[in-house]
Amino acid sequence: MKITSVDCYLGDFITVKVNTDEGISGFGEAGLAYGNCWEAAYGQCQDFAKLVIGYDPFDTEKIWEHLHRHTFWGMNGGIVVSAAMAAIDTACWDIKGKALNLPVYKLLGGKTNDKLRAYASQLQFGWRTLIQGDDKMHVLSKPEDYYTVVKDAMKDGYTAVKIDPVFAGSEDEPDVAALFATQGQHQRGAWRYHDLKKSVDRIAAAREAGGDDLDIIVEIHSLLDTNTASELGKALEPLHIMYYEEPTMPDNPSLFRVIKSNCNLPLATGERSSTRWQFRQFFEDRTLSIIQPDLCNTGGITETKKICDMAQVYDIGVQIHVCGGPIATAAALQVETVIPNFVIHEEHNANLLTKFKNAGKYFYEPKDGYYTVPELPGIGQEMSEAAMKNARKHVTIE
Ligand code: MG
Repeated sequence: MKITSVDCYLGDFITVKVNTDEGISGFGEAGLAYGNCWEAAYGQCQDFAKLVIGYDPFDTEKIWEHLHRHTFWGMNGGIVVSAAMAAIDTACWDIKGKALNLPVYKLLGGKTNDKLRAYASQLQFGWRTLIQGDDKMHVLSKPEDYYTVVKDAMKDGYTAVKIDPVFAGSEDEPDVAALFATQGQHQRGAWRYHDLKKSVDRIAAAREAGGDDLDIIVEIHSLLDTNTASELGKALEPLHIMYYEEPTMPDNPSLFRVIKSNCNLPLATGERSSTRWQFRQFFEDRTLSIIQPDLCNTGGITETKKICDMAQVYDIGVQIHVCGGPIATAAALQVETVIPNFVIHEEHNANLLTKFKNAGKYFYEPKDGYYTVPELPGIGQEMSEAAMKNARKHVTIE
């Protein structure tokens, strides 16, 4: 089998469709449809698509190595480069599964986890009742809003949630447009007690809503510096946090040692890290309890499986970071069902938006807080006809 062409799409998500001489096509995603690297990722997918024409899509190791070693920037190239590698790699795995009439998880080692526990993610932007009211995300500020949103998620059967308590800042009525434009309330250095208390009160309200039956992941989006993150982490200890995500930027992994020595919370990071090499120091330092590699950014199914297996050596659990389109969700489920160190699946509240539902051929969501992996051949998901037709940009590389 040979790759004959690659369609690259820039729509609500950045997606590739890899086509072969046997008429089988596979789908992959570059997980950078949020933030400000859309065009770069779309362009990078095109650059790398040119390099895989004529390759056998079954040779995923060879293709990954080719893009990593023979493109100059593949080595330590950063998230845009590894996202394009991920899109092509995922599409090749999809082709392999379709050609063999097997779901990808069967090719990766089979099903270790029959049911995949999921958490309702990013509740500071609302959950079902709020988001589906006007098909938009909101920024919640008052602690009582956090109480209500947790109850809303629990009604769907979730027993775990994730909340960023600092994104909104400490005001009761934040400037929502400004917050989204700046991607949150950055806090550095010594923190005013007023600000610290507001963040703690929000998580306390979530704990009150969920009681002992709820697990709470606290997300910081790297908005705090090391000192401030340490201070907040210490203050959150009595609320029994499942893990403390991206308390500060991951760029200097040594700083996670400082946070870990200052507060007694399990730490997590990984969504901004690409390839095994950027996870290495976190493993060796054993500062993390959970890693969160984004399959669509860190190099695809091939690379994510390796990162997860490395983590197991250090008794580190895995929650794949999922903040993309339907292809990203489906591909994550394929890996999660295989790996023994799977902890929990991220169900983002953006998946409740119409644009997510319309982007995939199929629509999957957890039932009573659990996913099961799709049993269709390949990754079990494709772009919808509408998503391909309505993409803002589309180019075919031959
Ligand atoms: Mg995150």
